[in-house]
Amino acid sequence: MLQFKIIPVTPFEENCTVVWCDETGDAAIIDPGGEAEVIQKTVADLGVNVKKILITHGHLDHVGAAQQLADHYKVDIIGSDINDQFLFESLPEQCMQFGFPYVKPFLPTKWLNEGDKIELGHLTFDVLHCPGHTPGHIVFISSADKTAFVGDVLFKNSIGRTDFPRGNYQDLMHSIKQKLLPLGDDITFIPGHGPMSTFGDERKNNPYLV
Ligand SMILES: [Zn+2]
Repeated sequence: MLQFKIIPVTPFEENCTVVWCDETGDAAIIDPGGEAEVIQKTVADLGVNVKKILITHGHLDHVGAAQQLADHYKVDIIGSDINDQFLFESLPEQCMQFGFPYVKPFLPTKWLNEGDKIELGHLTFDVLHCPGHTPGHIVFISSADKTAFVGDVLFKNSIGRTDFPRGNYQDLMHSIKQKLLPLGDDITFIPGHGPMSTFGDERKNNPYLV
């Protein structure tokens, strides 16, 4: 069964999430945006074994500690979709723009495509390409556990910004309405910022979707 722990990191309170299979203890770190030491301490306290780092999109506050943690745990960085390559390559510029400490540019070990599957212990995550906030944004879905990790596509009572480079409002709405919401009202999602919610609650109450 899927277990997870959210660790808000960076001044943007980005929801870095440690997710693990409670039968094997195999874990992944989703969107380690910064504060690598805090994430490492949480992982140690949980007693889980980090097997991979998963990335929803290339914004600094979601990837800032990824390379440091990949080196520490000797694991791969997997995702986003290749259309976010320009963001990984411009990490120093993103740092300057947002007043973050310097982060060296890096590229994921492996880009992801829609339909890919991620195995973690006995868990399986489906990969959906959900562009709009960024062109290469992807989302991780555990159908068995009715849980989705949606990055900055959808929030409780809000949606992702589309005013960043290569953002696209039509693409974002298509991603939410045609790809995420049809997965079912009973899916709980962990957004990149702020509280959790369900697709059903957002379909009924999110002011940007009604
Ligand atoms: Zn973002």
